[in-house]
Amino acid sequence: MRNVNIIRNVFIPIGNNELQLVDIHFDETIHSIEKRLPESVAWSEIAAPEQRASFIQKVSARLKAVQAPEIDGQFLVLMPGAIDPHVHFNTPGFEFREDFDHASLAALWGGVTTIIDMPCTSLPPVTSLPNMRRKLQALQNRAYCDYAFWGGISGTDFSDGQRLKQNMKELVEAGVMGFKAYLISGMEKFTDLNAGQMKQAAEWIKDLNVPLAVHAEDKELVVTRRGQFQAQGQNDWQAYCSARDIEAEARAVSLMASIVRQTGAAVHIVHLSSKRGLEIVQNARNNDLPMTAETCPHYLYFTQQDFKRPQIRNYLKTAPPVKFAEDRDALWQGLADGSLLFVTTDHAGCDPKTEKVSENFWQVYGGIPGVEHRVPFLFSEGFLKGRLTLEQCVNLLSTNAAHFFKFKNKGSLARGKDADFALIDLWHGWTVKADAMHSKGKYTPFEGVEFKAQVIKTFLRGVLAVNRDENYQTTTPIGKFVPRN
Ligand SMILES: [Zn+2]
Repeated sequence: MRNVNIIRNVFIPIGNNELQLVDIHFDETIHSIEKRLPESVAWSEIAAPEQRASFIQKVSARLKAVQAPEIDGQFLVLMPGAIDPHVHFNTPGFEFREDFDHASLAALWGGVTTIIDMPCTSLPPVTSLPNMRRKLQALQNRAYCDYAFWGGISGTDFSDGQRLKQNMKELVEAGVMGFKAYLISGMEKFTDLNAGQMKQAAEWIKDLNVPLAVHAEDKELVVTRRGQFQAQGQNDWQAYCSARDIEAEARAVSLMASIVRQTGAAVHIVHLSSKRGLEIVQNARNNDLPMTAETCPHYLYFTQQDFKRPQIRNYLKTAPPVKFAEDRDALWQGLADGSLLFVTTDHAGCDPKTEKVSENFWQVYGGIPGVEHRVPFLFSEGFLKGRLTLEQCVNLLSTNAAHFFKFKNKGSLARGKDADFALIDLWHGWTVKADAMHSKGKYTPFEGVEFKAQVIKTFLRGVLAVNRDENYQTTTPIGKFVPRN
């Protein structure tokens, strides 16, 4: 047990864009949160840097001086450590693209203290208990943030249904958060499921009481059109986007909605990209079906117009691709009205010098390493542009995921919870630069974009893990595996 530490003079959001100035007392967990001033302050009273400065001047006589070893909260905003429920950190097996060491440090720089790693981009994939044990073994002394796993269901697993069912049960007992499956997969070792297999998987998952996360694009539509385009020598971004269009997403999300209706399984649509896809999810939710969805920063910022910019074209490639202004706006609306449960990154990096250079867009690696940018992005584009409240941002970045995945010690600021914090500066902008990123592959379609919010410090279970003011990052990989409760 370490000594109790104190962060003094931080704002915590208390709802309706109101903030309370507090001190937080903690060791590995939060001991207490003490009001520094009895009254709260409205964001609108401190939104401008000069308003904040005059507020600080006005109240400072009423505050205790910060004394070492207490930590000066600098009148920043403190949120519970962010949770990114959808990342590909690639250890073991695809470390020529990304690895846990780099990506988990990048997470901390982005205010993220817990991630849930996908099963498909490690070798062997997390489709059985022995495979999961190999991944846990490989992550020994490699993780700087806390981590949980998605289990996986590959189409090839259906050659032995009883074995698959047993594997799923064992993985749940070992603590996976749920299972990921694809309606279309580009991976050799982790293949897609047809509609019948998906329904079977949903039935088994229902009994295990965990969510089924689905990559939802219609395989037949995509493969047929891709074949036609390639036969005609159409290898540009337009062909790629036409093959993986809104119709492809809508058909797949519809199929999943019907599987939810038939089975009652909890289905979660990953990286939703379109208004039509969102409407199908909303319709299911309005009928009290256990269907949820997430979206990612790229779908909330870019449109297909951005593929016309050669300097970011290849960096923006993802599956599904970003869509149109109407889709982007609908997704923001879905975050604001609660029909989208969280924002994830789908962090998936590569070496841009080898896998982002092809003139043939079909050959370009698809994936954006975004774990470091999600928190500043959402505060900047969501809160500071008036699309979301401060509290909605915190919910979408942390609290909702903690509830959904039953992280009992994470996602909120309360006595007894893990002392996972991110301190956010909402008053000073910065410009995204790929060469300043901490992930292994350094590239981003957000290159040159100004975010008006920045993560200054990140604490993991009470330990100051990253401090931007001093360009400090921990050298001790203290990340722990977090099993589902
Ligand atoms: Zn993914």
